[in-house]
Amino acid sequence: FSKSIEATRKTRTVCTYCGVGCNLNVATKGSEVLSIQAPTDSEVNHSHTCLKGRYAFKFVKHPDRLRKPLIRYNGHFTEATWEEAYDYIAKNLQRIKEEHGGNAVGGISSARCTNEENYLMQKFIRVGFGTNNIDACARVCHSPTAWGMQKAFGTGAATNSIEDLEYTNCILITGANPTEGHPVTGSKIKQRVMKGVPLIVIDPREIELVPYAKHHLQLRPGTNVALLDMFAYYILEAGLIDQDFIKKRCENWEEFEQGLRNLNLDESERTHGVPREKVRAAAIEYASAKGAMAFHGLGVTEHSHGSKTVMTIADIAMMTGNIGRPGVGVLPLRGQNNVQGAADMGCQPHQGAGYLQVNDEANHKLYEEFYGAHMSNEIGWKIPQMYDAALAGKLKALWIMGEDVVQTDPNTEHVKSALNALEFLVVQELFMTPTAEFADVVLPAASFLEKSGTFTNGERRVQRVNAVIPPIPGTKSDGQIVCDIMQRMGIPQADYTPDGVLAEIARIVPFFKGATWENLTDQGTQWPIKEGGIGTEILHVDSFKRGLGKFHFFRFQESKEIEKHHDEFPFILTTGRILEHYNCGTMTRRTGNAQIVTEDLLAIHPDDAAKKGIESGDMVRIFSNRGEVNMKAKISTEVKPGILYTTFHFPENLVNMVTSSECDEDTMCPEYKVVAVDVEKVPAS
Ligand code: SF4
Repeated sequence: FSKSIEATRKTRTVCTYCGVGCNLNVATKGSEVLSIQAPTDSEVNHSHTCLKGRYAFKFVKHPDRLRKPLIRYNGHFTEATWEEAYDYIAKNLQRIKEEHGGNAVGGISSARCTNEENYLMQKFIRVGFGTNNIDACARVCHSPTAWGMQKAFGTGAATNSIEDLEYTNCILITGANPTEGHPVTGSKIKQRVMKGVPLIVIDPREIELVPYAKHHLQLRPGTNVALLDMFAYYILEAGLIDQDFIKKRCENWEEFEQGLRNLNLDESERTHGVPREKVRAAAIEYASAKGAMAFHGLGVTEHSHGSKTVMTIADIAMMTGNIGRPGVGVLPLRGQNNVQGAADMGCQPHQGAGYLQVNDEANHKLYEEFYGAHMSNEIGWKIPQMYDAALAGKLKALWIMGEDVVQTDPNTEHVKSALNALEFLVVQELFMTPTAEFADVVLPAASFLEKSGTFTNGERRVQRVNAVIPPIPGTKSDGQIVCDIMQRMGIPQADYTPDGVLAEIARIVPFFKGATWENLTDQGTQWPIKEGGIGTEILHVDSFKRGLGKFHFFRFQESKEIEKHHDEFPFILTTGRILEHYNCGTMTRRTGNAQIVTEDLLAIHPDDAAKKGIESGDMVRIFSNRGEVNMKAKISTEVKPGILYTTFHFPENLVNMVTSSECDEDTMCPEYKVVAVDVEKVPAS
């Protein structure tokens, strides 16, 4: 017995699932993972994890794991060696570059991967092909947050730490469901509410936090701007603005104020459907608090006016002076473990590593000198534009690192057609996903427990990920794969080591300047990281990154999806996720969590169900002008009449068959939260 204790090793690393970034202590014996616990000293999660982080790790050794590169010959996958796969890829990418130019190549990077891997991926595409056709899955989640907060504050990241919940006097949550999506943060919010801090929830659904909330503003999906404008109006009307803060720290107040004063409250109320007195009471609660924190999630961003909603939340924080001190701020709840990091590292077509605009002359020169290569100064294609370019024959080759776009991107048939139109598709993956099925080459990657590097959580905390076990035989880390192919194609790159790449990042990303592998201690460090590894807990303390914070006023506009299709498809479908599963479920469906929740269900209000003759457990058909999907119904008052809700964790019930290509006007983030559909019972056969 004592021998077996001695043989057990504990390694500290970071959870792969959500943007909370919980620290984990992983117990292993040899290459077997025995258990996961939370370290008691972790500033992020204080001995706590959710059931994904603690129990959902069995996918790592699952028999479905890819263990050999696969090359498609004559329509069929054939197992290959790494050498054969690299040769085949290098030959095809070189040919496409010569025949069609570097702009015919694109890359999709991954918020699942480390900072070092994301950094290398964007470098591979930019340096290797002289194009900025590089994007990542932030496109389909928080790209409006980055855009909107950059416009308002100059930095597209959380202004404060989650720990600030300890000091706040009011919590506002718009379009986020933390107890399911960010469970450890959700628990902290509950704890604060139970100690008397008022909670305001703006959400079309009765999420788990609603019984804890003092105010629930249950708006019609797609009307965030209308509701938040009214919220700001009542703050102004009650005289609860922070005039000193506005005067000293902000610009464009007059235009914003004028916009609010011209609001038509009757029209606003009709639009969002929440009685104005409820909005007024919540607004006064927020603005009267000594310090108030505003959290938001994908219920804000995944709309045609997602960026505008983010800017309106920023307006509300600035008009009340809730910026730049403990217990206040604007905190996007980042979905994936490293979605912050993927953007920080430059996996977006308009900004390179460190958020420098690629089409700015000085930045372009800086990047060319740093990389010693010819770089493009033209903004590249975003993911939806890559699909269109593939269909138009302009994008010939695509490299996807750790993303299942067929299951997660909207309008599945459109995505499939685009992938089919490509000449050459490379996919790095853990499993044979619906996206990998389309690939010409599939490369077996290592999971988070098999590699080292850093993840940056939703509060800008850069944390060390430490390999717990070696890569399972036949697989390689994503960073190793990208480095190998760079070297194979003659793109200068030193041999892959995570600390070596981190050192390179620190030389080009200004806010990583002081980061080294050694000084990122067990607790991680929040960027900007200054010399000596000194982090920054609160942003915009004395001034905003952009100088003055900028107010923007936006008048509500109806979603294009509703305008175009709601007459024919009278229900509004909105989508989200549940505690037990993670996004497309590639990992969690291969763990014990798959026995707890086995399928996606459609929530429908009892009145609608009665009209349609639907009972709980009935199979229903949901259809839009893009496609259809069948799933079981769950009759529930969590949604209002006319609204439907489901999740997207199971490929068997692929809800993205019905979602649309409508997207945020500024960033092309898809409008997953407002989908015009109809529903009917599937007759028993
Ligand atoms: Fe992992 Fe998020 Fe759960 Fe923490 S809250 S254990 S980071 S999934």
